[in-house]
Amino acid sequence: MARILFNHVYKKYGKDNTYAVKDFNLEIHDKEFVVFVGPSGCGKSTTLRMVAGLEDISEGEMFINDEKINDLPPKDRDIAMVFQNYALYPNMSVYENIAFGLRLRKMPKHEIDLNVRRAARVLEIEQFLLRKPKQLSGGQRQRVALGRAIVRNPQVFLMDEPLSNLDAKLRVQMRTEIIRLHKQIGVTTIYVTHDQTEAMTMGNRIVVMKDGVIQQVDTPEGIYNLPN
Ligand code: ADP
Ligand code: ADP
Repeated sequence: MARILFNHVYKKYGKDNTYAVKDFNLEIHDKEFVVFVGPSGCGKSTTLRMVAGLEDISEGEMFINDEKINDLPPKDRDIAMVFQNYALYPNMSVYENIAFGLRLRKMPKHEIDLNVRRAARVLEIEQFLLRKPKQLSGGQRQRVALGRAIVRNPQVFLMDEPLSNLDAKLRVQMRTEIIRLHKQIGVTTIYVTHDQTEAMTMGNRIVVMKDGVIQQVDTPEGIYNLPN
């Protein structure tokens, strides 16, 4: 179970005069699927990276459940992340790619096996476990990347433009897959995209950002009904 709270969060890079993210306030509920949408450079990735602990927070506070995470190292956050460039290890099998993080954490072999097989089942890639990434299609590879992320049963799942390298048809198919995956594993999710259709079709709630600032937060229906 994971609730995420942003309390007056600001981000300034180095000696920049302007904030990449300004006065960001948001509460994300347990198991919610929230989409951050907005044009390139509006601060979506920066915000996501602050949740992951990959960027420092300049001002304000961030909480997961009731724990303040401002200074918590990334490895101590129970978070999984998938990016656009989901580099799989080319010389490892799909099984080993998914198992890798669990091996690093010295999980017992039989538990690794249970977790890998469960993730593979959820993503319907069981039949590919012994293949190498180059023997897979783009969509199958993206599913392996998702498998690698969910195999640890994280509390929070962060996705940054995970589908933007896929062709249009596959992108639409993978949207559905990700929604199904979210329903099945029920993990609190933040999904970043600049694609409005993707935002509208995927999010329980949509956070519209511009120039580092939240412009609107609403359900897809609420956003849709706004005059434009
Ligand atoms: P988005 O994800 O919406 O495209 P970003 O969060 O990547 O936006 O960027 C927000 C702003 O912060 C942009 O002006 C961008 O140039 C700046 N920015 C992002 N990363 C860095 C960085 N590592 N160093 C300096 N400025 C950065
Ligand atoms: P053992 O202890 O006999 O070596 P493991 O505990 O490594 O067995 O494996 C248990 C299960 O996990 C077996 O079904 C095995 O096929 C599977 N398995 C383990 N490692 C891999 C791998 N790298 N690729 C595919 N399947 C694996």
